[in-house]
Order: sequence, then C-alpha cells, then structure tokens
Amino acid sequence: MTDALTEDDRAAMHARYRAEREKRLRDDGNEQYVEVTGVFERYAEDPYTERVEREPVTNEVTFAFVGGGFAGLCTAAALVKAGVEDVRVIEKGGDFGGTWYWNRYPGAQCDTAAMIYMPLLEDTGHVPSEKYTHAPEILSHCQGIGRHFGLYDNAVFSTEVTQIVWNEEASRWIIRTDRGDEMRAKYVAVGTGPLHGPKLPGIPGIESFAGHTFHTTRWDYDYTGGNPAGAPMTELADKRVGIIGTGATAVQCVPHLARSCGELYVFQRTPSSIDVRNNRDIDPDWFATLEPGWQAAWRDNFTTLQTGGFADEDLVMDGWTDISQRIRDRVLANGDDFSPAAMLKAFHDSDDEKMEEIRARVEQLIEDPGTADALKPWYRQLCKRPCFHDEYLQSYNAPGAHLIDTDGQGVEAITECGVVVNGTEYEVDCIIYASGFEVGTEQTRRSGFDVEGREGTTLFTEYWSEGMRTLHGLHSYGFPNFFVVGLSQAANLISNVPHNLVEAGETIAAVVGHAEGIGADQVEVTLDAEQAWVDHLVAGMRMFGGGAACTPGYYNNEGKPDEGQVLNRLGYPEGPLAYFAHIQQWRESGNFEGLEFRDDAGAVL
Ligand code: NDP
Repeated sequence: MTDALTEDDRAAMHARYRAEREKRLRDDGNEQYVEVTGVFERYAEDPYTERVEREPVTNEVTFAFVGGGFAGLCTAAALVKAGVEDVRVIEKGGDFGGTWYWNRYPGAQCDTAAMIYMPLLEDTGHVPSEKYTHAPEILSHCQGIGRHFGLYDNAVFSTEVTQIVWNEEASRWIIRTDRGDEMRAKYVAVGTGPLHGPKLPGIPGIESFAGHTFHTTRWDYDYTGGNPAGAPMTELADKRVGIIGTGATAVQCVPHLARSCGELYVFQRTPSSIDVRNNRDIDPDWFATLEPGWQAAWRDNFTTLQTGGFADEDLVMDGWTDISQRIRDRVLANGDDFSPAAMLKAFHDSDDEKMEEIRARVEQLIEDPGTADALKPWYRQLCKRPCFHDEYLQSYNAPGAHLIDTDGQGVEAITECGVVVNGTEYEVDCIIYASGFEVGTEQTRRSGFDVEGREGTTLFTEYWSEGMRTLHGLHSYGFPNFFVVGLSQAANLISNVPHNLVEAGETIAAVVGHAEGIGADQVEVTLDAEQAWVDHLVAGMRMFGGGAACTPGYYNNEGKPDEGQVLNRLGYPEGPLAYFAHIQQWRESGNFEGLEFRDDAGAVL
C-alpha cells in the first residue's frame, strides 16, 4: 500500500499528524487529571472483596513484597525456588492478581499473547485456552501461582502499606499498614505496577453529576448486571450510558456496552489505532509437545522482533511483531543496508503503511462516513498504546451506539444530568470513566506510602526528588536489602510487561540467595555503581513510549517528554533484549558487581 503513496501523500499525512498533535497539546499536562481522593475516593474502593476486620500482624519474615500482581508473584516464585520459604506478599486488593484483580470490566483481555504474557506456565502447568486470554483466566492463573508456590500462607490482603522504615541496628525493615500492622522483614521489595491508581479527567462539573458513575477498573456489576465472563448486562437495557475515554480499556468494553445499553454515548478525545485481533484457541495437544525452556525462548523471540531485531522465525506472530517484520522485509529488499538512516526510513515507511491500513480498515467497517472519519487515528502506531480488536469498530454500526467526537478537545463539562460536548448536553443515567491511570504524577501519590532508608532519608520524596536513581532499576543507595520492581531504568519493555518482571524476580532471588549463602546481614548498591548506571541511561536517553512528535498521552508524559522526572522514564540505552542479556550475565557471574554484601559488624564480605 505504501508503494502507492507519493512523497506528497506522505508529506500531507505527516502534516496531519502534526496538526492533530498541536490540537491536543495543553499546558496543564498531567495536572489535567483528578486524583481519586476526598470526594472521589469511592472510585478506588474495592468492589470485589469485603473488608474483614483482623488483628494487626507483627511477626517477621525473610522477604516481604508490596504488591500482589505479576511483580510480586514472579519475585516470590523465584525466591521460593531459590529456597526462601517465608515470603510475604502484602496486597491492597482482596487476592493476588494486581491489574487483573482490579480490571474485571466486560471484555477485558490481554493484548499480548498468553504464551509469553502469562508467566510461570511451565511451573504451574497451566495451558492457556486462547492465544489472547480473557481476564478471568489470567486472574485465576495468578491465584494458581499463589497456590503452587504456597504464597497464600503468609499473604496479607486488603491491606494498604502506609510506611516502610529501615532499622539499621536490627538490619530489618518495619512495614506499617492501614490495619495497624508492624511487620518486620529482612528484605523488602516494592512492585505496585506502573498503572496502579485510577485517575479521572478534570472535567468542569465532574462532581455535580447526579446519576450513577464508576471507573472501569472497579466495574459495578451490581448496577450493570452481567459478569466478567461476558454475560449480558441486562440491567442496562433501558439505560442511557456515557463512557469517557477510548483507550485500550474502552476498546474492549465498548462492544459489550453497545450490545447491552439502551443508548450508548462514547465520548472520544483521541481515537485508538485498532489493528486486527485474530484470536484463536490453543490446542492442548500442540502445547504438550513444547520442550522444557520453551517459554524463555518464546519471550526472547518476541522481544527481539518487537524491538526491531532479527530472528529466523516469528513464534508469536501478532500485531506487535508485524511492524518489525515489515521493517525487516524493507531492509532486506534494500540490499541489506543496515545504516541508521536506512533503518529509520524502513521504520517510517512501514509505519506509514501500517497506519494507512488501520485507517482503511475503519473505512471498510464503519457504515457512517462521518463516524468513520472521526475514528481514524492520525499518529504513528507506537505513539499511543496500539489496540487490537475485531468487534470494537463495528460497535458503532449499532443504532443505539453513538460516537461523540470532541475533535481532540475532550469533554467540555459534566452537569447534573449528563455530558456536554460542543455545547450539546447528552443526558445519561450513568457515566463510566475509561480515563486510565496515574502515570506521570509523584510516586507517593501513586503508591500511597514512602520508604525511609538509612539515616531517615525517604526514597520517593527525598532521594528520588529529581527522579529515580538505581542500579539496574532495582537497587538504590541508602536503602539496604531493598528492591524496586518495575520497568524503568531497566528493560522498559512495554509490549510484554511480565518479561521485565520475570527477569527482576530472578535477579532478586539470585542476590538474596547469595546474601543468605554467605551469611550477609545487608546488601546495598554502592554510590559509584548507582551513579554509573544513571549516567549510562542519561547518555543514551532511551525514553519509554512515544516522543515529542507524538500526540499527547501517558506514553509521552502528556506531550511533555522532556519535562518532569525524565529519569523515571529512561530505559537501558541498548534496548530491552540487551538489558535482559546484561542482567542475566550479571546475576549468573556470581560477582554481583556494584553491590556490597556486609556482615552484622558492617564488614564487607
Ligand atoms: P488510557 O490512559 O489509555 O485512556 C484514557 C482515555 O481517556 C483516553 O482515550 C483519553 O484520551 C481519554 N480522556 C482523558 N481525559 C479526557 C477528557 N477530558 N475528555 C475525553 N476523554 C478523555 O487508559 P486505558 O485504561 O484505556 O488504558 C491504560 C493502559 O492499560 C493501556 O495503555 C494498556 O497499557 C493497559 N491496558 C492493557 C490492556 C490489555 O493488555 N489488554 C487492556 C486495557 C488496558 P486521549 O487519548 O486524548 O488522552
């Protein structure tokens, strides 16, 4: 298709990209969103598990992990495998699952193939039912990991950490919570997820709506009827429902709403790019033929291809790796010219081609030309989270489903009765916020606690006041026996988040296993090693997500990629695959370069 594009066509396309971006830039950036505290606190309450009063927990474990999602599960599993039996996971929700505990909206499904996304398949023996599994199966897999590794025995649920404090004399961490707990642990890790706290759009009048409202991450099935497995939401049959936001979440739940609601109004600021899904069942007989170690090989294959590398075969073959295939074909067609300029041109041409296909698909599937026009995305594919769905676009052909496009400006106001766009009020009975999660805001606002290290220095507020400072994204100076588990200052691989977490878990287990093996009391990164790592990241400046030329969104700090805590968005300059190779080599070498292991008298071991 690109071959049919002239240079003029391309210039016009890129001019449109710039114009659509300009239209959406706003001075307030992240400040446009409303935190779910105070009068908005109920948007973050747990609708799935009743809070039961219990006695405070005060005992000690070897390892405590804050967060019961894949970060906590992967780390705890690796620790158990390394022989650390008493691992305690502390979790705000009522069970394991993290994002899959909270996100139970109808249609919730993983956009990354289950074969690489669902960790520990070889350990648990779980056979994914589909190429892209639905949320209930992923939640159940999380619980299965908890059972398989005996993590329920020590776990503490429905509990929010309020403070973590280092006691230097005892070489122990004290963890305080909203339940009055004062738990102790020799080691602590925090992995609360990059998309943890729901946020609301800062729309004038948002507090005045008199109807029913909730955020997609706390779906109110009591109000809608139906269930996470996709049963019809019968209670909506006579309701007028508005949903605000058209990101990856809305793309999955809108088809279900369109089928169930009396009238559905979808309020759109920026359309998502919707590529084909092509889901299919996984054949258990075929799955049984996979050789041990297959999952790590599949993960590496996907990461290689998704980040622009070359591999003999594409094991996953999906929308994430498709663009890389196109780039490779172009480069090879150009006579193996691997110069940066040739690679960039191949990337841009492939992206132009892909986005033209995505826009053509909209035209092909949508009956009303005005609606089709409004649903076309005008930006490069990886500027925003790519979406994949085979029913979302067609939802707008249903007579009761209305796309209300705001031409990049967002909803104008919310009144007692409904939602206002371009001066028109749309009266609704219910507003559903598919408005995403806090990403670029301060860490304490997102986590709800701080960590007090040696000499009382707080990690998030003080030590990281100018942004993260770590070795490998895991260790910070002044915080002995403490680990951070996430994507930043590490691989920063967003297309398959659990890959980052599996590697982090194995690395932590190796460090703790070594510390315990040599009888160390404390393990801490040296200031020099931390500084060298940060310097390396800054020199490379490989940012998370889209850059300045992209339409605003959480991928590029709402259009301000160079502002705020830039250090928090940096990844290993050589790319995710290189990071994974580096960290594997580092932990397997047994030297743990950059860390200092000390005995109880403070002597370096
Ligand atoms: P997003 O942050 O991606 O989307 C929020 C939406 O709200 C955007 O469409 C945004 O528009 C819109 N919005 C914000 N303010 C306003 C306003 N004032 N008026 C109108 N619209 C507004 O959140 P999601 O929950 O959709 O997704 C978050 C992330 O969660 C995804 O990017 C993905 O990483 C993950 N996810 C993964 C899934 C999977 O694997 N299957 C499924 C769902 C989510 P604009 O774009 O203009 O800012």
